[in-house]
Amino acid sequence: MATGVKAIRGMNDILPDQSYRWEYFEQTVHKWLAAYGYRNIRTPIVEQTDLFIRSIGEVTDIVEKEMYTFIDHLNNDSLTLRPEGTASCVRAVIEHNLLYAGPQRLYYAGPMFRHERPQKGRYRQFHQVGVEALGYVGPDIDAELIVMCSRLWDLLGVYGLRLEIGTLGNAESRALHRTRLIKYFEQHRDNLDEDSLRRLHTNPLRILDSKNPRMQGLIDNAPKLIDDLDEESCIHFESLQHILREQGINFEINLRLVRGLDYYNRSVFEWITDKLGAQGTVCAGGRYDGLMEQVGGKSAPACGFAMGIERLLALMQECGENITPPAPDIYIAHQGEEGADYAWKCAEFLRDEGLNIILHCGGGSFKSQMKKADAIGASYALIIGDDEVKAQEVTLKPLRESIEQASMKLSAVTELIKK
Ligand code: ATP
Ligand code: MG
Repeated sequence: MATGVKAIRGMNDILPDQSYRWEYFEQTVHKWLAAYGYRNIRTPIVEQTDLFIRSIGEVTDIVEKEMYTFIDHLNNDSLTLRPEGTASCVRAVIEHNLLYAGPQRLYYAGPMFRHERPQKGRYRQFHQVGVEALGYVGPDIDAELIVMCSRLWDLLGVYGLRLEIGTLGNAESRALHRTRLIKYFEQHRDNLDEDSLRRLHTNPLRILDSKNPRMQGLIDNAPKLIDDLDEESCIHFESLQHILREQGINFEINLRLVRGLDYYNRSVFEWITDKLGAQGTVCAGGRYDGLMEQVGGKSAPACGFAMGIERLLALMQECGENITPPAPDIYIAHQGEEGADYAWKCAEFLRDEGLNIILHCGGGSFKSQMKKADAIGASYALIIGDDEVKAQEVTLKPLRESIEQASMKLSAVTELIKK
């Protein structure tokens, strides 16, 4: 027997009994973004591999081991399925010179691809909403991004999220910090694990992000970036905190916040929940003033974040979400050829009136059609048989309330239902 073809491990189908929750999420997010004046940008899912190496950084988890990279054998280009959205967004902004018209508030949503070990909250195809503000020096825009997240949590009905903020300073203070880190870890070379040894000279900041418990003591005692921080970044960080306090946003300062991508500077932040186990970061971002130039454009300040849709949907469930699955207003049951013809007309008429209609297809007795109407969750059944055709009327039967069915002109149906 031939075995069926299955979906790829870590890449999920989203079936109708879940997709309505996604649609609810997407609709909420669209309204929320419009309220802050962010506009949608849609970029291809595949990019030149070089874009991600240049932007995310060669010595990062993503570029070292998580990218879906392949050769397009038709022209030998090295292509990569996007592991995140910022690089593509910045590439498009440069390519189309969008900043010529002034700073831009942009967002995107869609699938991202990373070859990670699949587990709860971690998939190989996952989905993000990303929000990017390009051309703004901040810290007002940094604060706006954080404040808007907080509003979204309210709109989605999720609670208990912890906000951690930190600062990475400017390029010079990072360079200084880097030198001090290398010196420190060199002195403790014998205690470094394999990953950290490899990163010691290429990307020592990433050692701080190590999840290895054996490394934690060493990491806790490592030099702190705050001691190497430049004056301007200090002021930037202070002002950000001021706005957040004014807006009533609670936060914790975490000076060890190292993001998994190399392009960040100054403000970084993460929204974390305890309700989802190990995969608790639902949203993360920060400032990336150097990225435009790094990707080949004119230097411009920028700030953004991305949130994981799967994790947020899981959190909504944990927080007792109450989204009603969609159900039609009316299921039209009909019999006979003339009944069918009339039923078609009724269906289109009622859809024009703004109602959601399922027109029964496939024949069968009234009894079996009524069973379907009930199973699908319709509020009403509209019955059209010989009598109805003769009288040019319809019979409306409420399925969710114990009210008698009644015959009426089609034009009376909408008003009755909307009442
Ligand atoms: P993590 O530390 O969980 O690996 P990350 O730092 O790699 O996250 P980012 O690159 O900042 O994540 O992506 C932003 C958000 O996208 C994360 O906070 C998370 O909600 C989500 N996300 C990242 N990777 C995955 C994945 N493999 N599966 C599901 N969601 C993910
Ligand atoms: Mg990761």
